[in-house]
Amino acid sequence: MDNSVKFGRIFGVEIGIHWSWLLIFAVVTYTFATGIFEVFYEDWSQAQKWAGGAAVAIVFFLSVLIHEMSHAVVSNRLGLPVKSITLFVFGGVANLTRDPDNAKQEFLIAVVGPVTSLVLGLLFAAAWGALYEFNTGIAGIALNLAVINISLAVFNMLPGFPLDGGRVFRSLIWLRNKNRIKATKIASTTGEWIAYALMAAGMAQVVFGSYGGLWTVFIGFFLKNAASGAYQQTITASALDGVMVRDVMSRDVATVEPTVMLDELLRDHVLQRNARCFAVLAGGDFAGIVTLHDVRVVEQRLWPETSVYRAMTPSTRLHTVTPEESLTSVMQLMSVHDVNQLPVVYGRELVGMLTRGDVMRFIQLRQDVGDLPANDGENEAESVSTEKVIPTNRAG
Ligand SMILES: [Zn+2]
Repeated sequence: MDNSVKFGRIFGVEIGIHWSWLLIFAVVTYTFATGIFEVFYEDWSQAQKWAGGAAVAIVFFLSVLIHEMSHAVVSNRLGLPVKSITLFVFGGVANLTRDPDNAKQEFLIAVVGPVTSLVLGLLFAAAWGALYEFNTGIAGIALNLAVINISLAVFNMLPGFPLDGGRVFRSLIWLRNKNRIKATKIASTTGEWIAYALMAAGMAQVVFGSYGGLWTVFIGFFLKNAASGAYQQTITASALDGVMVRDVMSRDVATVEPTVMLDELLRDHVLQRNARCFAVLAGGDFAGIVTLHDVRVVEQRLWPETSVYRAMTPSTRLHTVTPEESLTSVMQLMSVHDVNQLPVVYGRELVGMLTRGDVMRFIQLRQDVGDLPANDGENEAESVSTEKVIPTNRAG
């Protein structure tokens, strides 16, 4: 859902449009211009039909935007700021900065969207009723928009995570079993089933000669991806909730002196310690990092005369973290800067190294042990940290 174009800001919420929306826009415009308007408004010119189709697509777009804004408004009210909204194929996604703290919040944030669409649908239906006698053309458009908005409400209320209905469903299970992870598991599995059902229904339509079924297959495919992705995200976020760098980092860091030559580094350190990454300590202070990659960029004949100091990445050019930082924010740092390891520094002292591998193993371990926090919305997720003391011994 990252393939979106930034569109602007409303009430401080960034609006993004997923590429799939361009497709929806084209399909809605095309359907109305060549289908509905062609049949009902024969006296319209081609230009009028296409402009009318585009107008419907724009109002549809605004309807979806209003739906998403309703999530954002409620979420902001409850103290969970929404930074951005992405409009994509079956509606949109309001990107909450974090998951709701409890089931009630989740329920309210989720349910307001379909309710808003339903209300919009009823308003368009009322407009149709009021305009019908005066202008059948505009009344017809209003009726179509009523149908679209009510369909949007119904579709989004399907009980499959991450659709709104799936979130409502999750919040109800969560309220009952007090376990957000298990609730997410159930709701996202239902989401996958619904996705498969949509794909199957779409295929059947195609088999029976209606290519509109491809659209249903497409939506099912998106829902399937979103459901599995959302579950994995919840697992990761929960596993890392309340965990600090010091709980996960490797303390046993391989170190080397800056004066060591590269051939010596390979012979006496890399092979001996079976390590690919070394912290360079100059008189005990953390000076930088040297990896096998740094060695390889130097010509082999120069290895005996090139020091680790010249080949390393100096600490001034490295992102470092402290042992007290939260793992969640550090993982973001890692993905933003696309780095696989971060030196953990306390003052000027290197106390450990954090790698993506460490974090993945930690998540796996927590899943295997089965101690993922049961979040009942009342208590903060407990930290798995057992060690509260920063080690004073130097790494390596
Ligand atoms: Zn929604």
